[in-house]
Amino acid sequence: MLGKLASCLFVGVWAIGLFPRHVFCDQRPATKWVIPVSLSLITLGKTIWVLGIIAWYFVRRPAARRAKRNAVVNNRRSARDGLGLVAAIIGLAVVPGIYVFSGFPARFDYPLAGWALALGTIVYAAAIWIFRRTHKELGRNWSISLEIREEHKLISTGPYSVIRHPMYTSFLLMALGQACLLANWFVGVAGLIGFAFLFFLRVQREEKMMIEFFGPQYRDYMDKTKRIIPYIY
Ligand code: SAH
Repeated sequence: MLGKLASCLFVGVWAIGLFPRHVFCDQRPATKWVIPVSLSLITLGKTIWVLGIIAWYFVRRPAARRAKRNAVVNNRRSARDGLGLVAAIIGLAVVPGIYVFSGFPARFDYPLAGWALALGTIVYAAAIWIFRRTHKELGRNWSISLEIREEHKLISTGPYSVIRHPMYTSFLLMALGQACLLANWFVGVAGLIGFAFLFFLRVQREEKMMIEFFGPQYRDYMDKTKRIIPYIY
């Protein structure tokens, strides 16, 4: 219920606040009868980011609901893990969200190149696609934090056949896509820092938990896969 309300509010504020002022034209039309046709690159970048984050939300929500049907049997949530999550939310959603709606902090703005917009769109779309695949593969084994669920199975199919943490790969791609789409140094760096906090505060503890639970099966899986970049890292 709260989630629904928040998403309506989010889309509503965006539609009311962003559209009339920026989206339709670079300059105000001379008369209100002129149909504005040009979109500035900056506004396009912001619009694509907003659409991307909405898509992210609609992938994440049903998956979280589905996973809740299997009870948590081993919970490794910690303040450290919470800090990583909060940093990721701030860097990948709050800071860019504030920037998109208010333009703050404008002093770090720079001109957006057409190639950066195109690259950002591809990278952000790839992030959402991988994010969706990971949720499909993990199914009821998904958790927002470090948890083992009832009947937890080790998934090693789809993106999990080449990397152990494709969801974190998708967060890295989101951060890179955000840095390309939103032409502001502060916002670009914030996304990368948010990702780094989440990933480095969590990954070793997650792998330790998986080894404790799955033993040699997970060690064997580790030998065959990389962490977040196929064949490299
Ligand atoms: N690190 C993974 C999953 C993130 S969700 C990724 O980036 O794709 C976090 C939860 O997923 C953890 O609590 C753990 O229980 C579960 N998990 C991680 N890897 C898994 C795997 N290969 N199979 C099943 N569950 C996994």
